[in-house]
Amino acid sequence: MSAKIRLYVEHPLGQGQSVHLTREQAHYLFGVMRLAVGAHVALFNGQDGEWLAEVVQAGKRGGELSCTEQSKPLQLPPDLWLLFAPIKKARTDFIVEKSVEMGAARIVPVQTEFTNSERVRQDRLQAHAVEAAEQCGGTFVPEVTELQRLDRMLDDWPQDRQLMFCDEAEVGSALRLAENKTGQPWAILIGPEGGFSEKERKRLAALPFAHVVSLGPRILRADTAAVAALTMWQQAFGDWS
Ligand code: SAM
Repeated sequence: MSAKIRLYVEHPLGQGQSVHLTREQAHYLFGVMRLAVGAHVALFNGQDGEWLAEVVQAGKRGGELSCTEQSKPLQLPPDLWLLFAPIKKARTDFIVEKSVEMGAARIVPVQTEFTNSERVRQDRLQAHAVEAAEQCGGTFVPEVTELQRLDRMLDDWPQDRQLMFCDEAEVGSALRLAENKTGQPWAILIGPEGGFSEKERKRLAALPFAHVVSLGPRILRADTAAVAALTMWQQAFGDWS
């Protein structure tokens, strides 16, 4: 048996586990999707894999499901962070959504010198990440962090984590991800609409764990660059093969 609807719940999942729904979840399942008692939903919580659950109680303000069998084991993405400088709201939402679909384990909005938005709505972006995981069949939901200052992150960067620095100044160069660094923690860094400052570029290129790469002969929008970089990384080191 499979279920068409997937729902992320902040609740332990296991054989016979009953799950009480929030008002919003009940509204979605019973009001919008018109499910009734006896219907099945695929639940996941980011830790216990995906579980098939039967609707045992359906109401306007709540409801209850009972887990019957595990339909998918937990599948963790590679240990890959996606660092990006927030841009306009819709495009930032897009970057978060694509990062989830393409297997980022952590999504970090970073404040760089030319980043023009001072703050991000972490709760809203995290909700986007949940929606993307529900849609793409993922059993893991990456954390979207609060906005971090890039310079501070680099000050205490974990030494074993490689950094794919997508530098627009390398547009058209042949700089690619060459070294074979599979099985290591990685991060991808995408700059803002205004690009990186010379000071940032110099510091980043000199870091022992940084790998400067070009994303081709054209300047990509930051959201396009995020997708291109994730694709490049996945092909080289990721879980697509
Ligand atoms: N304002 C910059 C300019 O016009 O040169 C463009 C910045 S671009 C819109 C935003 C980010 O996408 C860059 O900081 C970089 O991380 C990435 N990016 C875009 N095109 C790239 C390319 N061809 N090679 C490497 N990175 C690229």
